[in-house]
Amino acid sequence: MSGTYHSKNILFLAILFLMIVRPAFYQDQQPIASPVIDVSTDPVTDPIAARSLVKRTIKILAEKGIHLETRMDRIKVELRTREKMKQLVQVGEPGGHHRTRTVTQGDRTWVSDCTLTFLKGQREDVMMGVAAHELFHLWQSERGASKGWIRWIEGTANVAKYLVLVDIDNEKAQKSIQHMMEDRDPVYGKGFRKALKYYDKNGMKKYLEKVYKECGGKPK
Ligand SMILES: [Zn+2]
Repeated sequence: MSGTYHSKNILFLAILFLMIVRPAFYQDQQPIASPVIDVSTDPVTDPIAARSLVKRTIKILAEKGIHLETRMDRIKVELRTREKMKQLVQVGEPGGHHRTRTVTQGDRTWVSDCTLTFLKGQREDVMMGVAAHELFHLWQSERGASKGWIRWIEGTANVAKYLVLVDIDNEKAQKSIQHMMEDRDPVYGKGFRKALKYYDKNGMKKYLEKVYKECGGKPK
């Protein structure tokens, strides 16, 4: 009698465990949920503060399964006024810009240096989303995967932005996500949603393999 009761109890606990734990993981065991990012809404006017924000964003992306190879001493971070940014950024993201120089020898491609430029005075939380987008372009460059269809190149960079914003628990971040979800732009809106759908369905590992393929890179 007590044995039956005991095994029923174990069964109940096992089902409860599966219900709670299983939905938190994708097929490749990458967790869906992660802790809320604690970031201020203060304007960033100091390049040193911008640099540490970039460092934090690199760490968050790594926690999500996006690992950058370029070391911080090869990344320059600068802040520019709105007028200067307009000269740099023609379309899409007025808050950020990246320039990377790559070296290719045989099958290997690597980034020799990268400059990330951000709009001066952006809120910290906003800049973190922009940094994620620009850093994903760096990830693409490291793998020679910045060619191919523009929808995939920019759409997948926006997925990186989304993955950071989704963990920032404030109204501005949620509004940015809403904008991305409703944006009619074929590249930053539709391209983003198509890439996000692929990520949601397949998890990070397969998603990154797909980015290699679509953006013209070679798997390492
Ligand atoms: Zn971009």
